[in-house]
Amino acid sequence: MFEKISAAPADPILGLTEEFKADPREDKINLGVGVYKNEHGETPVLTSVKKAEALLLDKETSKSYLSIPGTAEYGLAVQQLLFGEHADVIKDKRAQTAHSPGGTGALRLAGEFIKRHLGDVTIWISNPTWANHKGVFTAAGLTLAEYSYYDPAKNDKDFSAMVADLEKAAAGDVVLLHGCCHNPTGIDPTEQEWQTLADLCQRKGLLPMFDFAYQGFAKGVEEDAVGLRIFANVCPELLIASSFSKNFGLYNERVGAFTLVGRQEQEAVTAFSQVKSIARVIYSNPPAHGAAVVTTILNDPTLKAEWLQELATMRDRIKAMRTEFVKTLKAQGVSRDFSFIEQQNGMFSFSGLNKDQVNALKADHGVYIVGSGRLNVAGMTHTNMVPLCTAIAKVLD
Ligand code: PLP
Repeated sequence: MFEKISAAPADPILGLTEEFKADPREDKINLGVGVYKNEHGETPVLTSVKKAEALLLDKETSKSYLSIPGTAEYGLAVQQLLFGEHADVIKDKRAQTAHSPGGTGALRLAGEFIKRHLGDVTIWISNPTWANHKGVFTAAGLTLAEYSYYDPAKNDKDFSAMVADLEKAAAGDVVLLHGCCHNPTGIDPTEQEWQTLADLCQRKGLLPMFDFAYQGFAKGVEEDAVGLRIFANVCPELLIASSFSKNFGLYNERVGAFTLVGRQEQEAVTAFSQVKSIARVIYSNPPAHGAAVVTTILNDPTLKAEWLQELATMRDRIKAMRTEFVKTLKAQGVSRDFSFIEQQNGMFSFSGLNKDQVNALKADHGVYIVGSGRLNVAGMTHTNMVPLCTAIAKVLD
């Protein structure tokens, strides 16, 4: 029965990790998959997470199933992180949150919810975007359209083209926005631009959906939510997919959340009942551990302060690597201006390297970056910086 099945193409990002692992070169450098690494190239468990886990080990009395949306404490903690502790959206009970298996699980829930309950609408995604967006929403049966986001000639956002494209969206269409640290470009809207986008969505009757996978990696947990909070003030209905893989370093625990904001409590509760039915037939109920860690940290002022400090350390290290990268490229004789990399947010940068240069980096120098030229800046260290920049200088020659 299986002999007629042809092989699926490797995932463009996770497939690269497999190739990297199989590469015998000792000086290979992995700037592919979006995982934070410290100065030693490791992805350690955060200390705040270890402490929360110790508390949980002591306290846990049962491994019985969670309810479909997970615990109420987790839902509230997620909402407070998104909207602010005293937000009206929370007070008015307009937000409903389901604990999902990672941010990807939240996106899939959103995709299924849109397909089944919002009619024949189009979901607008940025060009470029995270490679898996297309896969997840296509798998959910949605129609996709792209809005412009990036101008390669300027290595910057093309906001007027973005607005012009979104003006073409029809009432009821969904607009997917990256909450912060746009993946793959690292370029985010300004506060003024967020306001313009929120007004546009409200005026045209578009449903905004935030993919929020890097809260805390640009400027800080509160600062990074500025766009979302502007939307929450302007637009009556919203969808949000959160991921805590990166900001809590809980990658393999699969902890994320799907949040739905309705016009008023009853409408939100009713719409959310459909989200629960969808979750029931996909994964039934979520895995407990990661969310219990997040809840424990966010509800304990000492652990929360420690987590915020650890997050700041990750953020600051990435920023320092951006500066060092630009400086080292110059020192290696690269004349092309890469200073835009210092202005970008989060783990990723669109380097402007083309496919041939990306291939040459891998084949000749053991440097792995995504085909689009996206670099994971968090994979840079003081140790690999000179070899990395020397390799880039060579492929640019
Ligand atoms: N959204 C974006 C933009 C991402 O970059 C990622 C992960 O790389 C995700 C969602 C998915 O996160 P998770 O690993 O929690 O499923």
